[in-house]
Parts: sequence; structure tokens; C-alpha cells
Amino acid sequence: MSSREQEVIVVGGGIGGLSAAYALARVGCSVTVLEQAEVFAEVGAGIQLGPNSYKMFQRLGIVDEVNALSAFPDYLAMRDSITAEHVVKLPAGEAFRKLFGFPYAVIHRADLHTALLKRCEAHGSVRLVTNAKVVEIRQNGAGVEVMTEGGAKLSAAALIGADGIWSMTRAIVANDGEARTAGHIAYRAVLPTAEIPEELRSNTMTLWAGEKTHLVQYPLRGGELFNLVAVFHSDRLTEGWDAAGDPDELHAKFADKCDQVRTLLGKIESWRMWVLRDREPTRDWVKGRIALLGDAAHPMLQYLAQGANMAIEDAVCLADMLVNEQGDWDRAFRRYRDARYLRTTRVQLSARLYGEIYHASGATRDFRNAELSSWPIEKHYQGMAWLYGIEPTWRDDGCSRPLGPAQMGSAA
Ligand SMILES: Cc1cc2nc3c(=O)[nH]c(=O)nc-3n(C[C@H](O)[C@H](O)[C@H](O)COP(=O)(O)OP(=O)(O)OC[C@H]3O[C@@H](n4cnc5c(N)ncnc54)[C@H](O)[C@@H]3O)c2cc1C
Repeated sequence: MSSREQEVIVVGGGIGGLSAAYALARVGCSVTVLEQAEVFAEVGAGIQLGPNSYKMFQRLGIVDEVNALSAFPDYLAMRDSITAEHVVKLPAGEAFRKLFGFPYAVIHRADLHTALLKRCEAHGSVRLVTNAKVVEIRQNGAGVEVMTEGGAKLSAAALIGADGIWSMTRAIVANDGEARTAGHIAYRAVLPTAEIPEELRSNTMTLWAGEKTHLVQYPLRGGELFNLVAVFHSDRLTEGWDAAGDPDELHAKFADKCDQVRTLLGKIESWRMWVLRDREPTRDWVKGRIALLGDAAHPMLQYLAQGANMAIEDAVCLADMLVNEQGDWDRAFRRYRDARYLRTTRVQLSARLYGEIYHASGATRDFRNAELSSWPIEKHYQGMAWLYGIEPTWRDDGCSRPLGPAQMGSAA
């Protein structure tokens, strides 16, 4: 690549944008990240990381940093939030690691974001610019030109739109309007574990599945912090993104849930609220020298806890494709899209389905509990293989190489 052809602009400095910036810098690009906010930062909440993103961390050489900042649940559990009975309790220790190659981890978002930011700062080929809201993008024969709200003009050979669910880049590439509201609201909070009654502390990632609601709890920072995400159906459909939550509405939605759930919710005084959104999957990720990545490309409901995991996979795949195509952005972008869009489509659609399972009522809830609790552990692991068993040997048919039945059987 000529030095001009190596220049790429990344719009957005979230987990996806920083992963892409670092992955592209490592393969020889000169990267400028434009972030609209005053500082590079993440919201104060936890995030779950599957073995699939660990395989990407291995490629990026940051496994040790991530390990040092993560907590590792002993179990992944689903409990009925009305009766408190265990529906599923999957060991996430040695057998899980042996099977999928890496652990299941939980981490504070700010810690993961800071680890990526430090890598970008330390890399001589990444320029990080804040207060740089991109308002216009133009393409010409030689690449892209970008205008920021402050009047700055930049140009590069290519541009990655990693600007999240409200992506302005997507409006240029796919032009498919706003993301749809799911009719579900998430409240998030992080508190010191010392504030949780001892009998409710646990090193398990627990999802309390209830009718039209669920609550997720897990430890953070080696157990020092405790993360809670409460989700419920609501007709407050349009407003609210990292806004203050209304505890009265929350408590009313969980009033019929078991003591443990209500006690946990009662520990929080101030919640942050998200009106949840996603989009119909699409193949429209690329237009000329612009490609979408992360939530800009495939915004999904968080019920599989995979939005950021998918953004990290995108980043590694994109850099690999650029190397494979010897710096030809047009070919690399097309191959990146073809390698990624069916996998992310599957995750987007599965996340919706999982939301229905978590929020089931009546006979559907009874069936869920009876069916899932009857499965042997190996069957649950098998059900995860398509997601966590990925190897980063990208193929144009969706890139995942899940573990075969013989390997799955050896987990027992
Ligand atoms: C309640 C909840 C729980 C979740 N839990 C998990 C989980 O456990 N595991 C998981 O993998 N995922 C989870 N997710 C999803 C995950 O948060 C997202 O998928 C992920 O953060 C997307 O990263 P991104 O970098 O693509 O976008 P974002 O994080 O949205 O970053 C976009 C960045 O672009 C910037 N930007 C936007 N427009 C412009 C512009 N015009 N110019 C310049 N900058 C701009 C923004 O300021 C922002 O910094 C969860 C989501 C929610 C709502």
C-alpha cells in the first residue's frame, strides 16, 4: 500500500471503533479516530465476554490485560424469577474453558474500553481526536472526505463507520431510517458488593427470567463490584438512552417476583435507563470506500450479550481481509461484509428469540422451565458452539467454524 492508501478514518471511539483502530494499525494502516464526545469514555456498567471475543483478544495480543481486569463466573445460571427455582446451571470453569478454548468473563465496560484506548495511544499509527462530531462524509475517486461539526476537514483512502446505533454513517450506506424500538427498557446499575446481603452475593452470572421481565446479576473487578441489569416491557417506547431511570416504574414491574430479586432491586437508588432498539439485519454494510462496523452495522438486543463481542470480531476480520487483499480496500470491504453479515444476522435474530424465552409467561414459561431443566449440560454446551466455537479463519459464508459433535461430546 502507498502511504496515502494506508490512511483510514474511524468514526466513533467506542469498543468497536477502538478495536478496529488498533487492529488496522497493527496491519500497517495510519488511523484517525474521530469521536464526538469530549473524552473517550464508556458507560458505567458491566459487559459479558464470550470465548469468541477472547479469540479476537488473542489475535490482538491483549488477553493478559483483559484477564487482569475481568471476573470469571463459576456458573452461568438461569432461574425462574417468580419461584426462584434453577432452570439451568452451567459450569463455566474448567470444562467450559477446555471446550471453547477460553473462559466466560465479565468486565467493567470502562476497563475494557481503557485497555483498548491505551493500546491505541501507545501505537504510533493511531491518532485519537475528541470533540469531533462527523456531520458530512463525501466520496470521490480517491477516497473519502469528512467534515466535523467544528469545521475540520479530513480525507483518507477509506472510512469505517463505528458510530453506534444512531449512526450517521449508516444513513449514507444503508439509508434505512431509525432503529426500531423493542418495547423493552433496560435499567443498569453497578454497586459495591459490600452493599449486597451476603446470602445474595455469588460468583455466578445469574439471569432471573420472569414474565415480561428479567434481571441479570454478576460480579465485576474480581468481585469488588456487583452489576445489575433489569429489563421489562414498557410503552415508554421512544425516549431514554443512558437517562435517569424511574425506580417506581421498575419496582412496580417486579412487584410479583421472588424475595431475592426484589431485595437486589431494592439495593439500588439510582438507575440509568436504556430504551432498547435493534434493526432488521441487512447486507448493506459497504458503499464504495465506507464500511460499517459494530452497532452501526448490526445493532441487536442484548439478550445474547454479544453486541460488543460482535464488534470486536468485526474489527479483527476487517484487518485480516485487508491483509488478505493486499491493501485493496474495495475488495477487502466486500469480503469483510460477506464473511460477517450472516453470522451477525444469526446473532441479531437469536437475540430477539432469547428475549421471548426470558420473558415467557403462562404455559410457555412452564414449558421453558421443564424443557431447559431436563437438558444434560452437554446439550446446553452444544447449543452454544455456533457462537463461542468460532475460529477466526474467515469464510464468505458466515465465518464461523463451530466445534464438531465429537469435540462437543468430550466436554462431559
Ligand atoms: C443494557 C445493555 C447491555 C449490554 N450488554 C452487553 C454484553 O454483556 N456483551 C456485549 O457484547 N454487548 C452488550 N451490549 C451491547 C454493546 O453495548 C454494544 O453492542 C457495543 O457497545 C457497541 O459498540 P460500538 O462501538 O459499535 O458502538 P458504541 O459503543 O455506541 O460507540 C459509538 C461511538 O461513536 C460515537 N459517535 C456517534 N456518532 C458520531 C459522529 N457523528 N461523529 C463522531 N463520533 C460519533 C459515540 O459517541 C460513541 O462513542 C449491551 C447493550 C445494552 C444496551
